[in-house]
Amino acid sequence: MIILHSYCPTIRKNDQELPAILVNALKYYGYAVVDLPCPADSPRRYEEYLRAYWNTDDIIIVEQDIKVYGEEIKSLISCKKDWCAYQYKHRSDGAAMVTHGLGLTKISRAAQRVATPGKWLEGTYETLDARVLGWLSVNGWHPHIHGTVQHEHKTDE
Ligand SMILES: [Zn+2]
Repeated sequence: MIILHSYCPTIRKNDQELPAILVNALKYYGYAVVDLPCPADSPRRYEEYLRAYWNTDDIIIVEQDIKVYGEEIKSLISCKKDWCAYQYKHRSDGAAMVTHGLGLTKISRAAQRVATPGKWLEGTYETLDARVLGWLSVNGWHPHIHGTVQHEHKTDE
């Protein structure tokens, strides 16, 4: 299991880091935690990272603007299902709930084989969810929703 943490390096440091105590605990229990800096001026960087890690292991993706405390990641790790996610509001203004997002999701290797990177279209930070998870959906898969997490969207782009 690899935990991939994507973030924009131009956003304030305090807002982008996973809590150190959480990272230390994950590492203590043998999980790899990898930071994926995705600069705003390199919109394809996120996709490039995902392609690089795809099919290497089960992955959990944590995007910078999702508030995690640890229990959520523990819950994803211990679940046997192939595609798991926490839902969150798309924007802080109370817009629709995102259930097919990469924000906090686990994708097993079996599920990754369904949505192979060769089938993805080009995707930026904003569109990659639909590109990747859309492949699972069209193949009849549905995310196992573990609960709701807070989404702290910092910009209004
Ligand atoms: Zn699950």
